[in-house]
Amino acid sequence: MGSSLFDPDNPHPFRMMAPPPPKDDPRQPFVGPTPPSVTIAVLAVSINVLLTIGAFVWQIVTAADAHEVQSGGGGVLLRSLVGILVVVGLIRGHRLAWQWGRVLAILGVLLLGIAAAVAAATNFAAGARALLFADVAVSGALLLTTFFALGRPSARRYFRLVCPQCGRATGSAADFWFRLAQCRQCRIRW
Ligand SMILES: [Zn+2]
Repeated sequence: MGSSLFDPDNPHPFRMMAPPPPKDDPRQPFVGPTPPSVTIAVLAVSINVLLTIGAFVWQIVTAADAHEVQSGGGGVLLRSLVGILVVVGLIRGHRLAWQWGRVLAILGVLLLGIAAAVAAATNFAAGARALLFADVAVSGALLLTTFFALGRPSARRYFRLVCPQCGRATGSAADFWFRLAQCRQCRIRW
């Protein structure tokens, strides 16, 4: 009777035989292949970063006024850096990247809309205006793709944003870094 399996001091002799936790338990890290929605969001943000850098380089190459380009360099650097951080965060499954990916996408769409409205109302050179509208259309499409892809149920499951108690999806953080999510309905945190 020396078998540890039947040890009277062990209150759970059959623990080793217990079934593993279900794969879709939101308290556990995501198991399985990355859903297409998350892959699409990662690609959309990556393309946006590459286009931002590419457009800036193209501007430098073709600029008539070097000073004007230089003043825009900080903004390009910041946008690219934030974009890269979001991409890395999305790949690693960080909820903060999910949240900021969506927030910044919608903010970006609003800013692009304002830029387009200003361009439409002012006396831009026809070529510059066409270029701006093309930028707004392409960047806007990529940002909207990011926003809606991350809003898909499969993306919310990937970022563990489905309440383990009631099954309701959430976007609420329970702490500053969004390590913990909170259900709006039953208030539990996980
Ligand atoms: Zn709940």
